[in-house]
Amino acid sequence: MKNNIFINIKEYVAKRKREIAAMVAQRHTKPQIAIIQVGDLEASNRYVRNKIKDCDEVGIKTVHTKLPENASASTLQNVIDDFNNDPATTGVFVQLPVPEHLESCINYISPYKDVDGLLKGSYYMPCTAKGIMRYLEACNFDLEGKHVVIIGRSKIVGKPLAQAMTDADATVTLCHSRTKHLDWYTGHADLIVCAVGKAKFLNCYPIHCPVIDVGINFDHEGKMVGDCFNTDNREVTPVPGGVGLLTRLGLLENVIGE
Ligand code: NDP
Repeated sequence: MKNNIFINIKEYVAKRKREIAAMVAQRHTKPQIAIIQVGDLEASNRYVRNKIKDCDEVGIKTVHTKLPENASASTLQNVIDDFNNDPATTGVFVQLPVPEHLESCINYISPYKDVDGLLKGSYYMPCTAKGIMRYLEACNFDLEGKHVVIIGRSKIVGKPLAQAMTDADATVTLCHSRTKHLDWYTGHADLIVCAVGKAKFLNCYPIHCPVIDVGINFDHEGKMVGDCFNTDNREVTPVPGGVGLLTRLGLLENVIGE
């Protein structure tokens, strides 16, 4: 079983970035994203660096504000408010995680500027869901009437994706840790999206269709792996170099309002 529905993700992302750069170049006012980071976690530094690099590549302006780990809630709220009220700022993005005492501050981001799509009532689709939907479109994968099995019901991946795919006329089964007979669902899917976060999770189940592997895990050697170990007869998006890139692209699409 190898349907070859997936186009090469790296090539797709590079092409789409060139298209976005061309669109941005034609605008008189360049879009601008405020990236707010609290603390100095190495993973967060890396994610922020990647976002700034992506934005630079397509001509989106970035303003990076880095607050100390012990910043107060009112400090973070004021920073968010300033960007909410700044007409030059298109999007406000807070790099997660933030220290626990600041978690509720995220709700201060204006729903019109929440380009990460995290908040209830946000004007934007969460970036991973957006990236995956756009990618399937580019693959000419018609969701109408297809049975899509999504495993994982988080509010940043599974739930918004289920909504978006339902809106695209797919029949969606949203599975989670309490789902009974998951093997039946995976065996009767036209497309599986796995967002569980357990290495090789999907390899225990029957699969007769392409798989979008959202999971990010690290094996005992520290190598990044997805939720589905790829084998020759399966079509699975790669990890790394798969959904992570689509998520980064999803943010750019949101910032330019596409
Ligand atoms: P969460 O970690 O919040 O939730 C995991 C989901 O998996 C839950 O819905 C849980 O069910 C379900 N689950 C856990 N065990 C099982 C099981 N045995 N059978 C069926 N379902 C199960 O999800 P996230 O969406 O935040 O992250 C999922 C993975 O995707 C992580 O590895 C994360 O790092 C990665 N990720 C990757 C992104 C990318 O850009 N590549 C972006 C976002 C996430 P229940 O709700 O019942 O607990």
